[in-house]
Amino acid sequence: MILILGSNVSEQAQEYQQLLAHLATLSGIQTRVHVERGSEQTLTEIYLIGNTKALDIDDMQALPCVERVVRVSEEYRILGRHKDDQRATHFDYNGVRFGQDTLNVFAGLCAVDNPEHVEMMLRALRDNGQVCTRMGAYKPRTSPYAFQGHGKRCLPWVFELAGKYGIKVIAMEITHESHLEEIRDALRQTGNPTGVMLQIGTRNTQNFELLKIVGRQAEFPVLLKRGFGITLDESLNAAEYLASEGNRKVVFGLRGMKTNMGDPHRNMVDFAHVPVVKRLTRMPVCVDPSHSVGTRQASPDGILDVCHVTAQGVLAGANMVLVDFHPAPPKALVDGPQALLLKELPYFLEDVQIAREAYLKRVALRQRQE
Ligand code: PEP
Ligand code: MN
Repeated sequence: MILILGSNVSEQAQEYQQLLAHLATLSGIQTRVHVERGSEQTLTEIYLIGNTKALDIDDMQALPCVERVVRVSEEYRILGRHKDDQRATHFDYNGVRFGQDTLNVFAGLCAVDNPEHVEMMLRALRDNGQVCTRMGAYKPRTSPYAFQGHGKRCLPWVFELAGKYGIKVIAMEITHESHLEEIRDALRQTGNPTGVMLQIGTRNTQNFELLKIVGRQAEFPVLLKRGFGITLDESLNAAEYLASEGNRKVVFGLRGMKTNMGDPHRNMVDFAHVPVVKRLTRMPVCVDPSHSVGTRQASPDGILDVCHVTAQGVLAGANMVLVDFHPAPPKALVDGPQALLLKELPYFLEDVQIAREAYLKRVALRQRQE
């Protein structure tokens, strides 16, 4: 059960203290307080954990400071959608909104290689009105002999260049808790020219200790990729780990499932789950067409499979597209064969726009039926 308190309730207020004192008397019930400080208001929610079935909604509603009560199902308590749940399905970070009704494209390099390529990428993004990108500095690789990413060495110049080209959010995978501090240090050292959305990759979806640490910080939002060999429910629970530790700024990423049934694609595209995740949770949903498809093969209509599946995801209501580009794919150190070319960026963005407009028309059409 969640008690949603009136906005701007002060922790010192007598009424608030009375509420806490009352909750402490409920046997078999533990409380967890979550405070979300926004620029305009502070929202406080109290999670009641334990045998809440015995509690009467009207009684709880009548308690001091309580504005609304939501009875949650066991699943995804914080990030889930529950009956009569009107909690927000969006968050803002560094001036960019991420929600179940917005769409942001994160085109960029799978892996940072050199300043020249990073700058070419960022310039193309700026010239096409983009404020988000992807830039991998820490790369989890199948082979220990493969390029592992430049790590913290590249962060200062990547962040400075991002600031120079007006980039507000960089999606960047971390694979170890120490990377968090390295990113924080580099941002501080360069005067916070940009923002970072921490990415938890598919290989770490169930790295619970990493999830807990990333969940304990509220500075950076998180893109959690679905685990490539686990159920959707298991991946959604992984997202809940982040929220249960305090960070609710979570985007859920679909990136295909590992199975040979998806051949000749790199993974089995799973974008049919976009509406499912939006129905079960309040998270914005990202699709990663590059790691799903893994090649630049095109169909007889001339359209690349990467672009076809992007459209499929967007047409189903996706809120974010994470996609690999590279100025010179044969020279890319990671995943060159799936990268789109810089000259394809305006085309790609227009293609995404067509799919987005079709999605919005589909929603309007459906609303006219009701
Ligand atoms: C990536 O986005 O760079 C990546 C490695 O993705 P995934 O974790 O989905 O394989
Ligand atoms: Mn990659």
